Amino acid sequence: MVAANYLADAGHDVLVLEAQAHLGGAVSSDRGVHPDFVHDLASTFHPLAAASPILAALDLPDYGLVRTKAPAVLGHPHVRDGWFLQHEDVNETAAGLDTLSSGDGEVLVRMWEHWQAVGDDIVRSLVSPFPPTKATGRLLRSSRHRGFLGSLALPLDMLVRQFSGPAYPTLLAGNAAHSDMSNRLPGSGLMAIVLTMLGHQTGFVVPRGGAQGLTDALAARLRSRGGETRVSSEVTRIESRAGVTTGVVLASGERCAADAVVACVSAPALYQQLLDPSAVKPHIARAMTRFEWDPGTFRVDWALSGPIPWRHEPAAAPGTLHIADSRAQMTQNLTAIRAGRVPLRPFIVAGQMTTTDATRSPSGTEAVGAYTRIPQAFRSDDGAQLRGRWDSSDCERFADRLQQRLEEQAPGFSDRVLARRVLGPKELEQLNANLVNGAIGGGTQRLRNQVFFRPNLGGAGPATGVRGLFLGSASAHPGGGVHGGPGHSAALAVLAQFGRRST
Ligand SMILES: Cc1cc2nc3c(=O)[nH]c(=O)nc-3n(C[C@H](O)[C@H](O)[C@H](O)COP(=O)(O)OP(=O)(O)OC[C@H]3O[C@@H](n4cnc5c(N)ncnc54)[C@H](O)[C@@H]3O)c2cc1C
Repeated sequence: MVAANYLADAGHDVLVLEAQAHLGGAVSSDRGVHPDFVHDLASTFHPLAAASPILAALDLPDYGLVRTKAPAVLGHPHVRDGWFLQHEDVNETAAGLDTLSSGDGEVLVRMWEHWQAVGDDIVRSLVSPFPPTKATGRLLRSSRHRGFLGSLALPLDMLVRQFSGPAYPTLLAGNAAHSDMSNRLPGSGLMAIVLTMLGHQTGFVVPRGGAQGLTDALAARLRSRGGETRVSSEVTRIESRAGVTTGVVLASGERCAADAVVACVSAPALYQQLLDPSAVKPHIARAMTRFEWDPGTFRVDWALSGPIPWRHEPAAAPGTLHIADSRAQMTQNLTAIRAGRVPLRPFIVAGQMTTTDATRSPSGTEAVGAYTRIPQAFRSDDGAQLRGRWDSSDCERFADRLQQRLEEQAPGFSDRVLARRVLGPKELEQLNANLVNGAIGGGTQRLRNQVFFRPNLGGAGPATGVRGLFLGSASAHPGGGVHGGPGHSAALAVLAQFGRRST
């Protein structure tokens, strides 16, 4: 949708073909859990979208996008008797840190001062095509912030040593754990700082009315420029002749001719299913045989008759919740998942959605969504309950395990459940073919699959080796998350090849 908007702006005729019966992919929502409740089907909180210069340039509020947020950004109920809380206001957060461990507030304030100076350039560098020369050049010249920038290369476990208490390190670790990078590895620090600082900069915003609001605004903007969208139109083949794209073929057999195709599919789907093998460069075909997915995902949504009955009420209600017993547990879980084991006590990312956006469900109720990561290839279950088939029996048992995690923090949670929907890895993939076993990142986010290594190829760009065909999904640099980076890079590559039709 981002690529389509940029190409329509440049005067090209654009057609978006969507396999499912609705637009949006991992940015969509529905009323499938309960008719009075809106739940997101995949992505929920959009701080990257709010900070992305790519999306800002599209003026989406003019096309109906309204963003909203909860009273507090992020909360992590801890095992003793309270919460680690991130407020949007840095000073308020810092004051909370100081009550737990004197001096930690000052560390946060210093971090924030650096972020205010260089944060926009960091985000711009991350979402831009590689190499992001202008923003990166400014960062390299900013000698005052060199220490801070250097710290971003550290593993999270080293980065947090500047804090003496556990509160902010736990919040940072939870944010790093949204990716599949271990807190022991370089890259995890960057992910943690970016998400956490964006929590202070923009809040963890959501589109009012559901994640679908962002997709709907993109679609409305596209149509206003003459672009077309077609749902229930699965592309089953991308055609090329003598190394040049000629168009696509749909499941119905219909052919759509095109000078350029932006494939917003996973890299393996593009190179191993949609393209004829003879059109795939040998080094890309080889790279695809060792493509490394990020872990799978398991999602549960609840419609609650009342608010979550927290054992200890937080001082301000957070939108995003992290549930883990400790920072070490998050790292151990990821190690287990990589080894094919389902954790006994999964790390959960959850959202109090009605707290964040009052339109999600009737007043006094709460729409809750949660997900956790699971192995791409199951070997065993640390809880000795699952068989690894992810059929309804496995899914319901594992959903019970997640629900029990919430029940421990909020006794009476289960009594408030009006309805529950479980989206296991198979269901997520059925809803969106890009989410292979629920993988949310289009491939691992570890350093060996970043920038010029992404996706497993070398090249760091949307180019595919076929003229006129570009990869525009999260499998391409800069990877997963709702920020528009891959689509924008693909659109720029199309324009570099075909030029603009108008300005
Ligand atoms: C459970 C979950 C939670 C997440 N939470 C967040 C979050 O809170 N914040 C955040 O920033 N990110 C989050 N993400 C990640 C983010 O949503 C994705 O990284 C991002 O949406 C990927 O965008 P994309 O354009 O690559 O593909 P997608 O959003 O996956 O869209 C791809 C589209 O292509 C369609 N398609 C696939 N194959 C074909 C075909 N052959 N023909 C036609 N159409 C096809 C699919 O149906 C789909 O609509 C989450 C993801 C998941 C799964």
